[in-house]
Amino acid sequence: MGHTQTLVAPAILRDPTGLASFAAEIRGMALRPGDQGYDEARKIWNGMINRRPALIVRCVGTADVIACVKLAREEGLPLAIRGGGHNVAGSAVCDDGLVVDLSAMKGIEVDPGRRTARAQPGLLWGEFDRETQAFGLATTGGIVTHTGIAGLTLGGGIGWLMRRHGLTCDNLAAASVVTADGRFLRVGERENADLLWGLRGGGGNFGIVTAFKYHLHSLGPQVLAGVMLHPAERAPEVLRFYRDYIATAPEELTTIVNLRRAPPAPFLPPHLHGRAVIIIAVCYAGSVEEGERILAPLRRFGEPLVDLIRPTPYIAHQGMFDASVPHGMHYYWKSDYLGSLSDPIIDALVAHAWQAPSPSSYTILFHLGGAIRRTDGAATAFEDRSAEHALNINAVWTDAQVTEPNITWARNFWQRMHPLSTGGAYVNFLGDEGEARVQAAYGPDKYARLTALKQKYDPTNLFRLNQNIPPAPERR
Ligand SMILES: Cc1cc2nc3c(=O)[nH]c(=O)nc-3n(C[C@H](O)[C@H](O)[C@H](O)COP(=O)(O)OP(=O)(O)OC[C@H]3O[C@@H](n4cnc5c(N)ncnc54)[C@H](O)[C@@H]3O)c2cc1C
Repeated sequence: MGHTQTLVAPAILRDPTGLASFAAEIRGMALRPGDQGYDEARKIWNGMINRRPALIVRCVGTADVIACVKLAREEGLPLAIRGGGHNVAGSAVCDDGLVVDLSAMKGIEVDPGRRTARAQPGLLWGEFDRETQAFGLATTGGIVTHTGIAGLTLGGGIGWLMRRHGLTCDNLAAASVVTADGRFLRVGERENADLLWGLRGGGGNFGIVTAFKYHLHSLGPQVLAGVMLHPAERAPEVLRFYRDYIATAPEELTTIVNLRRAPPAPFLPPHLHGRAVIIIAVCYAGSVEEGERILAPLRRFGEPLVDLIRPTPYIAHQGMFDASVPHGMHYYWKSDYLGSLSDPIIDALVAHAWQAPSPSSYTILFHLGGAIRRTDGAATAFEDRSAEHALNINAVWTDAQVTEPNITWARNFWQRMHPLSTGGAYVNFLGDEGEARVQAAYGPDKYARLTALKQKYDPTNLFRLNQNIPPAPERR
């Protein structure tokens, strides 16, 4: 991901007058080491990441973004883009370079008639949902409200509405982009359509998005949603039942399985806190009555420790997992796509999931399919639509002294799962894992097309602090 580079600060950053003239030009705030607010501004969600940018520019508009791109290009500065600051690899910040911090750009306008929203890149999903739900509308977003809309959309976007309405990037109708040469481009089905294709899954490789336009769908405000818990001791039979149940589940139903120790969440009875459990979380994106009927067999199975599935405001359901993944803890992820939960997959999950040294660690399985599979894959850079599950093994801990055993647990677990996986990868769940994993995310054909697109829009690889797609000459 190119974060190891250390540079002597370029002239403009050493020369206070040069920086002063840049700071006077922009409307936002320019922060250098030592400035008040600098240390706060360089912090991101993953507490493992501790990088010291030479300059952080908190942009408030497109003109600031253009000024940043020009500065980085002219001064040869590494450039990182920060949306919600949630990426586990820490690509939102860099050492010794420029952070284009978009977190203050939080404008959004919903058009209820056309069922679209135009949103700025600093919005988090909770903020986005609040605005769209005011009109009874929503689009597929992440399952934690403090995740940014920008990075999530650009990498694909999975969440509670995906099986009914597709990935977030499938709902990306248009965008506004500042490219590496400082141009401002409108991007849509009819203008710069090649770039729209690349933004639908290709990450932050092609430019800085200053606005996203989304398709919205009717939803809620009440949905049938929540969690049920089974004891980990019954994992094999619960997971086998679950596999058979979801095989015929309608697209309205999205389920997520979480293998972990029950967190001390206020919605869980205190006697369960710390117990090894399987959490089956559900959201039915249709009528509550229909959801009751569809979910009945799942709720009848076995003897759940607790069943907290009930009609709930969609916004509340979206925030359910927030407290279990707070800012500042240490996070290390390993991920894969899986097919159906075969017996060997279940055996491997059961053997490793509850061996995590930290009680905050968890293993999550997102059930995919539905609209993701039926959407035309040719319309997006996002590739793997055939997978049944996205698996994310998440080591979570607080004390830097115990980093090694936590990372080792996730790596060993992943080594066991990887031979059972589809071989693809989801860029938004990748750490700093090298080029082969990025290629695996796109497959050979889309990767070749992406490298050609990169050559067209960013031939010098200015936007390289990401899951990088290097530029390559266009194929004839
Ligand atoms: C707690 C948690 C829960 C999550 N849940 C989900 C989930 O439910 N579904 C899912 O699909 N993913 C999920 N993710 C993964 C998430 O999609 C990625 O972490 C994503 O990168 C977050 O976007 P961000 O804007 O917050 O991140 P940032 O770290 O700010 O950005 C990540 C990268 O995106 C690019 N980028 C950001 N903004 C722009 C922009 N405006 N223009 C161009 N490039 C840009 C840059 O390359 C940047 O380095 C989750 C992550 C966390 C930490």
